[in-house]
This record gives sequence, structure tokens and C-alpha cells, in this order.
Amino acid sequence: MLNIRRFVERLVFTLKTKGVIGFILRLATLIKRFDFSGNKMKEAVLTIEQLGKKYKYRPALIVPALVLKRHHKLLNHSSHTNLEFAIHGYTHKNFKPLGLDEQVSEIRKAKDVFEQLQIHPYGFRAPYLSWNGHTGQAVQRNNLLWESNETFIWNGFKKSHLSKLRHFMEKAVHVLYNPLDGHKSVVIPRLQGGIVCIPIALPDDEILIDRLGIKDLDRISRIWSEILETTHRRGDIFVLQLHPERFATCREAMEGLLDKALNSERDIWVTGMKEVAQWWKEKSRFQFAFEAAPGKGWRAHCKCTDRAVILGRNLPGKASQAAFYRDYRVIEEREFLVESKNRKPCIGVHPQCSETLLKFLADEGFPYEVSDNEAGYSLFVKEHETFGRENELDLLGRIEESPNPIVRYWLWPDGKKSAFTTSHDLDCMTLTDFLLRLFGR
Ligand SMILES: [Zn+2]
Repeated sequence: MLNIRRFVERLVFTLKTKGVIGFILRLATLIKRFDFSGNKMKEAVLTIEQLGKKYKYRPALIVPALVLKRHHKLLNHSSHTNLEFAIHGYTHKNFKPLGLDEQVSEIRKAKDVFEQLQIHPYGFRAPYLSWNGHTGQAVQRNNLLWESNETFIWNGFKKSHLSKLRHFMEKAVHVLYNPLDGHKSVVIPRLQGGIVCIPIALPDDEILIDRLGIKDLDRISRIWSEILETTHRRGDIFVLQLHPERFATCREAMEGLLDKALNSERDIWVTGMKEVAQWWKEKSRFQFAFEAAPGKGWRAHCKCTDRAVILGRNLPGKASQAAFYRDYRVIEEREFLVESKNRKPCIGVHPQCSETLLKFLADEGFPYEVSDNEAGYSLFVKEHETFGRENELDLLGRIEESPNPIVRYWLWPDGKKSAFTTSHDLDCMTLTDFLLRLFGR
């Protein structure tokens, strides 16, 4: 039975996040983009899959379980071996007001539907990117591998001359997603418990086209290319979000990004969400062991897989090699001598420093030891009893200012400098899905 209260709640939520004008624009465009048969979306999904094949990666198709159940024949998922199907809620529901148990149950119900259709889901993205402090745990309790909810907004549309309408839309984006500023943050996956949290880049197709009304496709390409260049320069990850409903409009822009990313000089890892998460977990098990070599320094033993890239800075014997990233140079050997007098070539962290700081160093691939021996390490950190996202770039800057030898594992495998992937939230297949969604189905 259709639920009127859900309908009113949904309408209020939509008006709040899109605005009245946004809502009316949305209705008009829905009719253009969707049909009742689902063929338009089927075509978009097929083309996304083919692009994945062409560029040798698996795009993520992130779908509410009930939409998947309704249209699995149309999506013909069994032959879609080149898409990663991930969970986008049981229905397209706002997760922000939900407690832990409700979130666990929503994801579990969705996972059951996927599994009944013989699809094993590895990842989750909350509808409307509407996560809260419980979401990570809810994903973990359902034994998934990754979640992708945290948003980072990059320049580009902010530089544009914003009209009043656009200002309103920009505000709505911030109310809805509460994104962090990409330029002031480190945009990499994070290991939280057993889950890999993969950040997502904004502005996406919805913000650019529907909210900001940008019609000029070159401009969309330029905005996204700038994100690709910036994330590449900084060693970050760029997870593009492109809804299949706007795929026809943005196809060229996405293909342009894939072309650029695969240009060999850039060394960008073009890959899938599951592959990113698996790599991040593999990397989290890498270790360095340092053995004192009296009178010479320290022998470093790297415990890692063949995919690891080992980097060092201020290593006397390695100065002739070309820099890989900033002044970090690649070390080919898995065992090597670091001439460093009495200081271990890793980071000493005072016991009172925050646990978050240790997690950040681990995600960044730096070896560290918790100790109060201030003089025993290439760099010693003691002033961070609290540590947050706002402190991360400063800490990396301090490491890069240190005149002493430091070794680390690089963020990405096989000599790649940064990572790029595409994700596609398929909220609805047909116009009927949209109507059902307003009633919470
Ligand atoms: Zn969605």
C-alpha cells in the first residue's frame, strides 16, 4: 500500500535539498531522461560497461536493492561481468536520521536481495550520500569491504560567477553533503576497522548540470580534468560520480578523463572500487623492520608484496635517482642500508598523541613507533593530543621539511602515482521507479 506520510516526508526532503526551482527543473528533466520501459537506462548502463571494458576497469553500479530486484532481468546482471554491483540502500532512503540498528538492518535487507539474485556485493554508498557516525559500523557489521560516502569538493564551479540561483544551489549542496574542501585535505581511502572508506569527488554530474545549470560540456570536462590533474599531482584518488541518467550528456567528458588518465606519462591507476579497497587492505599489512647496523645506520627490511612501491627521502646513496613524488625517490631493493647515525629512519610518536594520527600515518604508508625517545627518530611528533583532517597536510609538510632520512610505502601499487575510478548511482531505471520512490519504495 502506498504510504502518504512517506510521500509528504519525501517531498519535504526533496524541496529542502533541491529547492522549489530545483524540484520543478527535476520533474521536467525526468521526463526527458527516463521512460516507462527502462530501455534508456539499460542503454546507459550497457555503454558504461563497454567503456569499462575499453579502459580495462570495472565501473561501480550502485543500486538500491528494490530497484535491482525490479529490473534485474533488464540489467541482465549475470552477463555484466564488467560492472561491480554495490548497495545503494534497500530503498533510496535518507540514512542521516537512522540509528545503528536501523542502518544495519537496511543494509542487511539490501544484501539479502543482492544475494538472492546471485550477486555478491562488496560495497555500499548511502542514498543522497547521507551517512552519519554509525554508517561505517553498519557496513562493517554486514561484512562488506568498502563504503564510499565522504565527499570532497574541488574548485572549479566556485570560481564561476554565481547567480543568485546558483548561490542557493551551492548552499543546498553544502547542507546536503557537508563536503570537505579537497584543496585543504588529503583525499585518500581510509581503513576504518575492517572497512575501506573511499572518498568521492564533487562536483558530480548532478551538481554541475541540475543544480548549477551548466550546459557547456567543455566546461564540465575542464572542471573534471582539473580534478584529475590535481589529484594526480598530489597522489590522491579521484572517484567520479556520474549518474546513468545523465550519462548520455556527460559521456564524452568521462571518456576524456579515462583517455587522459591512461596516458602513460601520468601513471594514474585506472581501477574499480573493489580493487581500490582490496589494495588498501593489502597495503595496510606492509611493514618495515629496522635493524641497527652499528657505525653505519639502520638496515631496513621491507615486508610487503611485489606490488608495493618503496620510497625514501634524504637517503645519501639514492640522490642520483629521479624523484618519484616531490623529493621521494624509489628504492628498488627490499632490504637496504639507511645511513642515518643514531636516528631510526621512521617517525617517533609521543604516547600522548591521538590514535587518529597513528591511523593517518598508517594510511599514508609511513613506519612509526610510539615512544618518548625524542632524539631516536628521523622525525618526532609530540604536539598532537587531538588530530583531525585539518592537521593532515601540516603533518605531511613537516615530514617533507625534515632533513633526515625517511622511508615509506607509496599509496598506490605498481608504480602508479594516483588513482581514478568511476562510480554510477543508479537511483531509478524507469519513471515508475521515481513515483514509487516518492512513496518510499
Ligand atoms: Zn542516489
